[in-house]
Amino acid sequence: DLADIGVTGLATMGRNLARNLARHGYAVAVHNRSYSRTQQLIKEFGGEGTFVPSEELAAFVASLKRPRRAIIMVKAGAGTDAVIDQLADLMEPGDMIVDGGNAHFQDTRRREAALRERGIHFVGTGISGGEEGALLGPSIMPGGSKESWEALGPILQDIAAQVDGVPCCVHVGPDGAGHFVKMVHNGIEYSDMQLIAESYDLLRQALGATPAELAEVFREWNRGDLDSYLIEITAEVLDQVDAETGKPFVDIVVDQAEQKGTGRWTVQSALDLGVPVTGIAEATFARALSGHPEQRAAAASLRGPKLSGVGGRELVEDVRQALYASKIVAYAQGFDQMAAASKEYGWDLDLGAMATIWRGGCIIRAKFLDRIRAAYDTDRALPTLLADPTFAAVLDAAQESWRRVITTAVRIGVPTPGFSSALAYYDGLRRDRLPAALVQGLRDYFGAHTYHRVDKEGVFHTDWSGDRAERPA
Ligand code: NDP
Repeated sequence: DLADIGVTGLATMGRNLARNLARHGYAVAVHNRSYSRTQQLIKEFGGEGTFVPSEELAAFVASLKRPRRAIIMVKAGAGTDAVIDQLADLMEPGDMIVDGGNAHFQDTRRREAALRERGIHFVGTGISGGEEGALLGPSIMPGGSKESWEALGPILQDIAAQVDGVPCCVHVGPDGAGHFVKMVHNGIEYSDMQLIAESYDLLRQALGATPAELAEVFREWNRGDLDSYLIEITAEVLDQVDAETGKPFVDIVVDQAEQKGTGRWTVQSALDLGVPVTGIAEATFARALSGHPEQRAAAASLRGPKLSGVGGRELVEDVRQALYASKIVAYAQGFDQMAAASKEYGWDLDLGAMATIWRGGCIIRAKFLDRIRAAYDTDRALPTLLADPTFAAVLDAAQESWRRVITTAVRIGVPTPGFSSALAYYDGLRRDRLPAALVQGLRDYFGAHTYHRVDKEGVFHTDWSGDRAERPA
């Protein structure tokens, strides 16, 4: 019998995705470059459903029902191109190749265009939720054509996480839209984690609280507005004690944050699109700073303020407010980036739907996403989430705490780039007049770059090196 769908690449993610499909009653063709992984899957989990194993890729393709649906879950990068080429050579017009790896959206656009010429649907699909999500229900962000969505959508929605009966999977948009949205998801994940880390650091330094005490604080926060997967697991990690030394786990981990690159991609794309994603950028740079031990050692003798032990229990609530406000800013920026890309690449993204599919399965899943969805339900063309009345009220209520937290951090010398840049963004966006006017003046002075006037139409230049009179440019 032919399989409903296939998975090639059976490492952690692919294996669990194949099992998820089989557990939902689909007959799943399975293949991996080295056959041993395929055999192991069948040996360990063959009883979970119907698997159709193949040693060769040609046999794998031949084992699929037409139009064929094959999901690639291999290491992102050059390997993906090789597997796509091999698959495409074995396929026919109308067949579908789904790339579930973490591909760059521009690679996905390129691959989609090339395969479209051959009549094959290429569906770049973001999948979030890690190992457990792949098995129990991830958040799935497929791009690609409408036709491919018709054939794949029901299956993907079936195996995705479900929140209140709604699957965490929609057709995101054409070509690279799915991988773009997954990239921004990861960028937001970076900023979420950075803000959590700043909260922990500041409370620990200012109050002298222990990791175990702070675990309790995060557990408490998880019962309110901040209710989310990342806050929940922060409590777990802070509570962990190292078996060997008896020390808090966080104190035995080398303090250099690594990255696989999706945060960097998000910032690079934001620079191209001209969208200030300061929260994600600061988070990415904070990781980069942590990863320079030689500079940190050289700078370790630089003096900081003498102050310590400032603030009492009220700082805990202040930090909670600062975290919530900064998080709203970071998400607002990420959603702006999706809106800008949607315009640039003609994707027609439904931003409210993006908030909906991140409510479950993925790493940034949170109650808070319901509020973002509600904001876009009220106004699909909302220029910024900060202007949504609900969020505006939250920011207003939080801002005194937010400012106090940053003041405290500055006074005791604890870096809070996430909190600080988020507040700077808030203060920048709400200003009626920005010093950008002076920047324009300087640009006109040294480079005759011209400027607009507030009181009349037209483009102007002042003759700075001559009579300093203004002339229409
Ligand atoms: P890895 O990224 O570790 O990749 C290993 C798999 O890729 C193996 O099946 C390997 O085959 C195969 N592979 C590598 N190069 C080639 C090649 N040139 N030709 C054929 N097959 C190749 O696996 P993961 O399961 O961790 O991730 C799979 C994809 O999912 C990646 O793109 C990753 O970025 C993405 N992803 C991962 C998440 C995670 O939490 N791990 C979360 C979301 C997405 P072999 O066994 O023969 O070596």
